Order: sequence, then C-alpha cells, then structure tokens
Amino acid sequence: MSTVDTLEIVLYPHPVLRHKSKPLRRVDADLRRTVDRMFELMYEHRGVGLAANQVALPCRLFVANVTGDSDQRDAEMVFINPVISGRKGSAVAEEGCLSLPEVVADVTRPATITASAYNLAGEEFKFEVDGLLARVIQHENDHLDGVMFTDHLSSTALMEIRDEIECFEADWASRQRQGEIADDATLAADLRRLEAIWT
Ligand code: ZN
Repeated sequence: MSTVDTLEIVLYPHPVLRHKSKPLRRVDADLRRTVDRMFELMYEHRGVGLAANQVALPCRLFVANVTGDSDQRDAEMVFINPVISGRKGSAVAEEGCLSLPEVVADVTRPATITASAYNLAGEEFKFEVDGLLARVIQHENDHLDGVMFTDHLSSTALMEIRDEIECFEADWASRQRQGEIADDATLAADLRRLEAIWT
C-alpha cells in the first residue's frame, strides 16, 4: 500500500482510537512494510508498544519491544489477530500512551495473561506472560477494541489528568476548525475505505 511511508501516530481524540477493529485477512508484503513503519514510529516516540489503530489503520495488529531499544531486534514482537484467553492475578503500574503523550497514570490490570496471535510468517503462537510484556499486550490489545488506558481509571484518578485530556480535546477541535485535520465524516469514510482493504 502506497501510504505506508506516510503513516503517523494519531493523537487522542482521533475517532479511530474508539474504533473496534476487525481481524486481518492476510499477511503480505504490505503488512510487513506496515509493521516496519510501526516499529520505526514506536522507537522514534520512545514507546514499547504500538497498535494499528494508533496509526489510523483499523485492523487487529500491534507491535511491541519491551526494551524500547531499536538495537535489540530480538525483543521485537508482532501480534496479528491476538486473542487473550486467560487472565490471572492483579498488578498496578504506571502507564502512558503514544496517542496521549505526557499523560501517565497507575493502571490496575491482570498480572498474568494467556494469549495467542499470528506472527509475520502467518504462524499461530500461544504464550503465557507476566510483568511488563503482559501489561503492554493488554494495553495494545485494548486499542484494537477502541479502549484507552484512561478507561481503566477510577473517576478520582481521572480527575487528576482531566485538564491534560481536555487540552488534547481542545487542540483537536481547533485543528479541525482550521482544516488541519479532516472533519469527522471524512475520517469515518477513510476508516471504512481502509477497513475494506485490510480486513
Ligand atoms: Zn496506547
């Protein structure tokens, strides 16, 4: 797909961040190029995970490297059509999101997960993980369902970051008014077009 090189991380409240994505139909050269670009963007923005929704692609795909280090290619993981089938325990840790830069909050999530996904070779892999990787997978998998980490916060915790969130909303509205960002109808049409291509 010709638009791969122009993929960029979208910021909250881009509507694709609230979109529940459908499974990818196939693994091909376009997808591999997209994955390369997603890793590039993730490292550039100092993240450890990035979901397709965050680059305005409505399909079930995310990438992760818990080291956040582009030299540690061995730690790169690609998750295509992931499914989390088991959740155990509970853990609290601080999270942030490349679509909400600078905003951080403590999030409670299951500590251990059992999941499966397909890799770039089109092979299914199953795994049980805990720690940071389990957290990253849950955070990114949420994105594919249109869920942001802020959705897991209590109303009290949400109050603490409300001003920052409102700044993103005001900035979005102003850029949309100035025509820097397409209107909602155009963004929705783009999403439908991409969905028809990818899923
Ligand atoms: Zn995120």
